[in-house]
Amino acid sequence: MEDTYNIKAIVLNRKSYSENDSRVMVYSQESGKLELTARGAKKIKSKSAGHLEPFNLVDIMVIRGQNHDYVGTAVSEKCYGDIKGDLAKLFAAGRAFKIINQLIKPGLADQEIFELLKEYLEVLNTAKKDFEILTSLFIFKFLAMLGHKPELAFCTCCVNKISPGNNRFDLARGGMVCGKCADLKDGNQLAVSDDTIK
Ligand SMILES: [Zn+2]
Repeated sequence: MEDTYNIKAIVLNRKSYSENDSRVMVYSQESGKLELTARGAKKIKSKSAGHLEPFNLVDIMVIRGQNHDYVGTAVSEKCYGDIKGDLAKLFAAGRAFKIINQLIKPGLADQEIFELLKEYLEVLNTAKKDFEILTSLFIFKFLAMLGHKPELAFCTCCVNKISPGNNRFDLARGGMVCGKCADLKDGNQLAVSDDTIK
């Protein structure tokens, strides 16, 4: 008898691992961030593979392995098709998920983070505009849940008081940078409107 357990999870990313297998990083309601091996995920016949796309909300039956846990079966509950069909949404969600993946440590369940992730995908999926603002707000909330208190009143670079206009939020510094210090080419800096800061 194989030892199995069931999880409800959001797929964070998926990478090819060997010729036929891929590694799937998920954030689950039950156990937090988990890395699972999906056997045969690149074979056309694999029924579960299509359900393991990033941003999907999936019910997974996991098989406990000696070194890795494996995806037994996977059935997506929600695919958030409007995110995948819109390049601007996809770009925003991709940026958010990259940050989540970097900052969350494996194996710690947190219902609030799971709900926040789900809520973000649902809001972004139906949103008509302001994808970047929604994403910045989500990242602020996420950082706050992790216990980071973002610096919003002063520039984290020159330490001058933040005044309205052209400010950016620097993820690496964990706070605002003013218009003078902002580097538009820095991928860690998010454009934020004055309303977002409030
Ligand atoms: Zn500055």
